Amino acid sequence: MAGIVLEHVMKTYGSLYAVNDVSFTVNDGEFVALVGPSGCGKTTTLNLIAGLLPMSGGDISIGDRVVNDLDPKDRDIAMVFQNYALYPQKSVYKNLAFPLQMRKLPKAEIDRKVQDAAKLLDITHLLERKPRELSGGQQQRVALGRALVRDPAVFLMDEPLSNLDAKLRVQMRSEIKRFHHNLNATVVYVTHDQLEAVTMADKMAVMNGGLLQQYDSPANVFAHPVNTFVASFVGSPAMSLIPLEVVSKGTEASLRSPEEGWELPLSAFNARKANASSNGKVVLGARHSTLKLHKAAAPGAVPGKVYTVEPTGDVTFAQVFISGAVVNISLDPSVLIAPDEKVWVEFDQDRMHLFDGASTMALQ
Ligand code: ATP
Repeated sequence: MAGIVLEHVMKTYGSLYAVNDVSFTVNDGEFVALVGPSGCGKTTTLNLIAGLLPMSGGDISIGDRVVNDLDPKDRDIAMVFQNYALYPQKSVYKNLAFPLQMRKLPKAEIDRKVQDAAKLLDITHLLERKPRELSGGQQQRVALGRALVRDPAVFLMDEPLSNLDAKLRVQMRSEIKRFHHNLNATVVYVTHDQLEAVTMADKMAVMNGGLLQQYDSPANVFAHPVNTFVASFVGSPAMSLIPLEVVSKGTEASLRSPEEGWELPLSAFNARKANASSNGKVVLGARHSTLKLHKAAAPGAVPGKVYTVEPTGDVTFAQVFISGAVVNISLDPSVLIAPDEKVWVEFDQDRMHLFDGASTMALQ
């Protein structure tokens, strides 16, 4: 196995920066998810690591080699795609054996590798079937097997679960995680699904507009998003973001709603952050589970109006309009509220986030 280093990697198409000065290091044996909305540059980044596209600038190393000028076949990688790319006419056995036959390995060694991979992925009983005789999840396992038999330094996976139904996705998610754990493999995994990234990866690279926004463990990205984009992309329901004005009073400060005029006094810690804002404006961020709903005015609570109420069984999600922004709140199902009801929402000063109103970066 091997680590991967990207240094100032660029890919341009005319004036479009598909990948813009992206640098990060994947340690040996790490599972890294490239995540972000459609068009953010995830697949392009993966294809640059694979060598399927020429770079416009920067360096990529795999293991201890700079691979900038190496063909994909010489990079010691295996790719798993969303469409599986299996040979329809060949049996599962032959699909797995084919990359090894191309490498002219002895027959006995090919057989051993195929049987080992089939055992690891629990597809031994499917070896004589054709791909069309397999379910989506089984086909995906064969695609993983075909990557596995090659014993690559690095696995590159591009949305491998996106053709599966929701239930199978969750199941295959755990299987890929176990696959990674058993092999201690280095994996770079592209997904637009932040939940997939959060649940599977050691680290996530959150991208937007070709730029790497944040590269850290899912726990750190969730707890300390660097800007409002990351804050709203990671977590479900998303972190709520409310643009507000800072009213400074020496070292103290409160936040004022430009729409509704109310003021929310800040703790000393948050006041120091708010006072550092570059233009007297901040975006207040709060996760649904940190908010408390009141049916009457309460200290530290600001007024809002209920928009929707969604019971899900053990938790009810409500959306509340506060100062023109939609705020997600999770509630105990015993709390009964109705659309259009006036409520008051209390923020947890220890768990709120403050972002600069101009740059959108987290205030320190
Ligand atoms: P998705 O989740 O939709 O697959 P992505 O994050 O993987 O999106 P990329 O496929 O990496 O995004 O594309 C990044 C940007 O580069 C997009 O704006 C895309 O339109 C552009 N792009 C990709 N390939 C080409 C190409 N061959 N020519 C021109 N622009 C391209």
